[in-house]
Amino acid sequence: MTVDHGRLDELIARLKEQGFRLTPQRKAVLKVLANSVHHPSVEQIYRQVKKDFPMTSLATVYKTVTLLKELGEVLELGFADGSNRYDGRKPNPHPHLICVQCHRILDPDVVGWKDLPQALSDSTGFRIFSHRLDFYGICPQCQKRRKPKRRGAGRS
Ligand SMILES: [Zn+2]
Repeated sequence: MTVDHGRLDELIARLKEQGFRLTPQRKAVLKVLANSVHHPSVEQIYRQVKKDFPMTSLATVYKTVTLLKELGEVLELGFADGSNRYDGRKPNPHPHLICVQCHRILDPDVVGWKDLPQALSDSTGFRIFSHRLDFYGICPQCQKRRKPKRRGAGRS
């Protein structure tokens, strides 16, 4: 886990200026969100926070994430199966690469996507305020795992 103190400080400052109390548990939630590149679910954040604060409840994590979402500091990626994932590092819409096997979600560098909303707005007259750009596939790690084993190579 790479530690991004800049983003963590930003999130802390944002909650403070809104007058929210910063309990150690809440701070721990912010820390996970600020440092996780894998777009964790509420349950995953909860499991991380519980390591340091065993008394933390799932409701506390959920409330903190919802609060940050309302403040526009967390990007929520909802999925049809109800498994929402969160990006606390980049709260503005951006492209995602999603592995349908291990459910890893990454932020790829996609050239030119930043110009798309404006271009679409110009050509359609829509006032665009949000967008979602997801690429689904199978990540390199899962592709390796799926390769059939040579006969006689033993089982694992
Ligand atoms: Zn992201």
